Amino acid sequence: MTEQLAFLDAAEALLGPRGLTRDHDLIEPWLTDWRGRFTGRALAMGSPADTQELAALVRLCAQHQVPIVPQGGNSGMAGGATPDASGTAVLLSLRRMNTIRPIEPQARQVTCGAGVILQTLHDAAEAQGLRFPLTLGGKGSATVGGLVSTNAGGTQVLRHGSMRALVLGVEAVLADGQVFSMLTPLKKDNRGFDLKQVLIGSEGTLGLVTAATLKLVPAVAERVVIWAGLSSVQAARTLLLHCEEQVGEALEGFEILLQGSLDAVMDHVPTARPPLTGGHPWHVLIEVVADRASAETIGAACEAMLEQAFEQQLLDDAVIASNEAQADAFWLIRDSISAAERERGPAVQHDISVPVEAMPAFIDVAVPQLEAAWPGTEAIAFGHLGDGNVHFHVIAPRGTDGPAWHRGDGKAISAHVHDLVTQWGGSISAEHGIGQLKRDELARLGDPVALDMMRRIKHALDPLGLLNPGKLL
Ligand SMILES: Cc1cc2nc3c(=O)[nH]c(=O)nc-3n(C[C@H](O)[C@H](O)[C@H](O)COP(=O)(O)OP(=O)(O)OC[C@H]3O[C@@H](n4cnc5c(N)ncnc54)[C@H](O)[C@@H]3O)c2cc1C
Repeated sequence: MTEQLAFLDAAEALLGPRGLTRDHDLIEPWLTDWRGRFTGRALAMGSPADTQELAALVRLCAQHQVPIVPQGGNSGMAGGATPDASGTAVLLSLRRMNTIRPIEPQARQVTCGAGVILQTLHDAAEAQGLRFPLTLGGKGSATVGGLVSTNAGGTQVLRHGSMRALVLGVEAVLADGQVFSMLTPLKKDNRGFDLKQVLIGSEGTLGLVTAATLKLVPAVAERVVIWAGLSSVQAARTLLLHCEEQVGEALEGFEILLQGSLDAVMDHVPTARPPLTGGHPWHVLIEVVADRASAETIGAACEAMLEQAFEQQLLDDAVIASNEAQADAFWLIRDSISAAERERGPAVQHDISVPVEAMPAFIDVAVPQLEAAWPGTEAIAFGHLGDGNVHFHVIAPRGTDGPAWHRGDGKAISAHVHDLVTQWGGSISAEHGIGQLKRDELARLGDPVALDMMRRIKHALDPLGLLNPGKLL
């Protein structure tokens, strides 16, 4: 207690009232994850203005052995930014570090603070005729630090990769207060380990990201958004290969959903309209984009691609969005699936991947297997077929009591899904991370050698275990 007070006094003296608060009303909104699954307590909330202030705070934490839980926009899916219930940790907000350095259009890169919100970054890049090619539903709150630390994905991974492929440099404060500064991007650099990659996806357990240099690409000059109806998920995979063959790299999104998910969105979003007349077992949303060099030819290329797909009976029906508003309306359907499905009652959600070519077979095996083993449940898969990553939700039987079902059948179903994914050589977390949500499942199913390496790296970089304790490992 005296130790904690000594720490708080020293931290307040270091950061001032803007940089450190003990005011419960200010801290409380950040103590629960946005999905409301985890709630914790914190000793105080730190909001340093810059890297040097943060480094000094971290040194103080090390001296007093105070744990640190980093947080960006609190839009994460795995409870990684929520402290535990002990109330001993400092909740570290990186949101004040939100500077974007001037963008040099010719360099096609941007350096920005960890607290920059993804939407703000999109706007800044667009103002220079460029684009940061990663987007996701939480773009209004997710920050650069959070995106780096979770190796976030989204709907453009098919072409541009996840954060790992887009981060050119990282600056981070280590557990002992040293600053790792590798912001200058080098196309070639073989000086040993790629340490920024160790930090990317480490969920705040190895270092506190303060800034990143990110890759930019030319702005989209033209996009073609297509909605197609198909008979099976196998057909969707064949259509994906056809699209890749026909338009190559211009294919930027390929998302699948079931008719049931489309119906759920129609019930949930009053303004939404089904893109096709008549129902189809599966639907696909395709986005093809062109920069200035190929803007004039992309429309014709997509029409030819669809014509051939019809001729080869790869799809049953399709429509090309006739304008930007309709293209946005198609995407709104895709982006509303999670919220619409939530209205249908309690469900367990899984963010899984298997090798891309195996995903249709996986879905065809897993869905009936789960529905048979837990009668009355409904298993649905939707999302990024092109990345071999789907969101695999299992909805409880109608009228089920949520909390009791989650503790019993829900838990057993998740374990079964994770077992199955592991048997298929896949991942129990394709893009949402591990946090505290999947920590025990990673310990149960992770490769023992990989887990041992991770623990050794963690111990080497954070011997006191002060960075985001209880998360990931
Ligand atoms: C509607 C919606 C849709 C989404 N869709 C997707 C999607 O398609 N793909 C996807 O990948 N994610 C998706 N997400 C999840 C989320 O947006 C990402 O995980 C994002 O990267 C989290 O960023 P954040 O700033 O909110 O991080 P937080 O939630 O605050 O933190 C996430 C993790 O990173 C750590 N962390 C945060 N900042 C730092 C830092 N500066 N240094 C070190 N560690 C840090 C935290 O401790 C925590 O472990 C979605 C979220 C929402 C709300």
